[in-house]
Amino acid sequence: MSSLLINQPEYSWLKELGLKEDNEGVYNGTWGGKGEVVTSYCPGNNAPIARVKQATLDEYNETVNKAKEAWKIWADIPAPKRGEIVRQIGDALRKKIKLLGHLESLEMGKILVEGVGEVQEYVDICDYAVGLSRIIGGPILPSERPGHALIEQWNPVGLVGIITAFNFPVAVYGWNNALALICGNVCLWKGAPTTSLTSVAVTKIVAQVFEDNKLPGAICSLTCGGADIGNAIAKDERVDLVSFTGSTNVGKQVALKVQERFGRKLLELGGNNAIIVFEDADLSLVTPSVLFAAVGTAGQRCTTARRLFLHESIHDEIVEKLSKAYAQVRIGDPCAPDTLCGPLHTKQAVEMYLSAVEQAKCEGGTVVCGGKVIDRPGNFVEPTIMTGLAHDAAIVHKETFAPILYVIKFKTEEEAFAWNNEVKQGLSSSIFTKDLGRIFRWLGPKGSDCGLVNVNIPTSGAEIGGAFGGEKHTGGGRESGSDSWKHYMRRSTCTINYSKDLPLAQGIKFQ
Ligand code: NAD
Repeated sequence: MSSLLINQPEYSWLKELGLKEDNEGVYNGTWGGKGEVVTSYCPGNNAPIARVKQATLDEYNETVNKAKEAWKIWADIPAPKRGEIVRQIGDALRKKIKLLGHLESLEMGKILVEGVGEVQEYVDICDYAVGLSRIIGGPILPSERPGHALIEQWNPVGLVGIITAFNFPVAVYGWNNALALICGNVCLWKGAPTTSLTSVAVTKIVAQVFEDNKLPGAICSLTCGGADIGNAIAKDERVDLVSFTGSTNVGKQVALKVQERFGRKLLELGGNNAIIVFEDADLSLVTPSVLFAAVGTAGQRCTTARRLFLHESIHDEIVEKLSKAYAQVRIGDPCAPDTLCGPLHTKQAVEMYLSAVEQAKCEGGTVVCGGKVIDRPGNFVEPTIMTGLAHDAAIVHKETFAPILYVIKFKTEEEAFAWNNEVKQGLSSSIFTKDLGRIFRWLGPKGSDCGLVNVNIPTSGAEIGGAFGGEKHTGGGRESGSDSWKHYMRRSTCTINYSKDLPLAQGIKFQ
C-alpha cells in the first residue's frame, strides 16, 4: 500500500533494517506470524509506517517448545563462550545504531539522540555481560565438618519470558537479553504491540549472530502480540522467569498469575519520581536537571520527574527560571536533529494528559505554563508546570505518562523527605543540596525509600553499571548492573563429603 511510510523514498533506510510493508512478528529459528496484523504509526504525524503480523497462541506454544529445545544446546556452552556470542550481538548493534535509533524515533516518538542512546544502552550492557561471563559464580564457603566442601553453585533458570513497555523498546529487552544469555538462559520476547517494528528489527540483528555461529535462532525468540501473549507467558509453567516491564496495573495482574504457579518474576513497574531542591542548592544545576527529567522523552520515562518540591525561600525564583526554560523547548518532529521534545506515543496518551491537567485544576492547581494540546498533526502536547497543589492531592500521587510537573513548596527537610516517600511508587528520587549531613540522611534509613537515590543529578538517565529498579508498587525488581544477574540464575548450596566419615552438622549424633 503506497500510503505506508516505508514505501516513500525518504524512509527507504527502513529496508536496511530488513523491514518491509508486511513483517513477520514471530521468530523461533524461522519467521512466522499468523495472528492479527498490527499497523505501526508514527506518533509525530500518525502516518502508518508498516505492518507486523502478530503471533497466535499456537505459534506461541510452538515457540516455547523450540526455545526449550534450544536451551539444551545453549546451557552446555561455557559461559565465556556465551559471552563471545553476546559480544558479537553488541558489535552487530553498533553497526546499526543510527538506523535503529532512527526507527525508535519514528515508531516510539522519542527524539533522535535518545533513540540512539537507547541502542547504546543495549551495546553497553552487552560489553558488561561479556565481562560478567568470566566472573559470575558463587563462593566456596568454609564447612564446619572435616572433609567436607560447601559450594555455592549458580545455574541458569532456563527460559526467560521478557515482556516490555513501549517507552524503552530496545534497552529493556537488551538489559534482560544480554544478562540472561551469559547466565545460560534462552529468551522469549514480547514487546509492546505499538513498537512491533522495533522488536522485529532488533530480533533480525540478533538472529543473524546466532545464524552466523550455527546456533539455534530460538535461543532469542520473538512472539509479537498484546495482552493475549503476555497473559500466556505469565501463566505458562514452562517460562522459568517472567521479566515484566510496564505499568503497575498490568504488572500486578502478571505478578499474581506468576505467583499462582510459584514462578519467578522480575517486575519493573511505574514510578512517581520527585526532585527536592533545598535552599543551599547550586541553583545552576537545577534548571537543566529538572528540564531533562520532566520534559525529556516528553515525560514518558519511568524515571521522569513528576513532582518538584522547592524550599519556600527559592520557590518563586526557580518556577520563573523553569518557565523561561520551558518556553524555549523546541517541540517538533522527533527525528529532526534539533528537537528537544517529541510527541506522546498515542492519541490515548494525549487524552490522559488533558484529563490529568483538568483534574489537577479541579484539585486546586494553577497552570504556570503549558496545559494544552498543540494544534498540528501528531500527538503533541505542551510540557506543563502546575503549582498550588497539595503534596497529597490525588493527581499528584498518580503516574500520568506525560510531561506534567507538579511544583510544591516545602519548609523543612523532614516534610520534604516524607513527601518523597508518601506515594505508592518507589523508583527514582533526587535532592539538590550542598549539605553533607543532609546527603547522608537522604541515603540512609530515614531518607529516600526509592531504588534510585540521587544527589545533584536528575531522576532520569541511569547508567547500566548500577542495579536499576524500584520498591513498593514499582515492583522490587532490579535489572542491568551490580548483582542483577542473580535474578536470571538459581542458586544451589552444595555440600560434598570427601572423607570416609559421616559427621552431622551442629554436632548431632544419630546413632
Ligand atoms: P503497559 O503495562 O500498558 O504494557 C506493558 C506490556 O505489558 C506491553 O508489552 C503490553 O502489551 C503487555 N500487556 C498488556 N496487558 C497484559 C496482560 N494482561 N498480561 C501480560 N502482559 C500484558 O505499559 P506501557 O504503557 O507499555 O508502558 C508504560 C509503563 O511502563 C509506565 O507505567 C512506566 O513507568 C512503566 N515502565 C517502567 C520501567 C521500569 O524499569 N520500572 C521501565 C519502562 C516503563
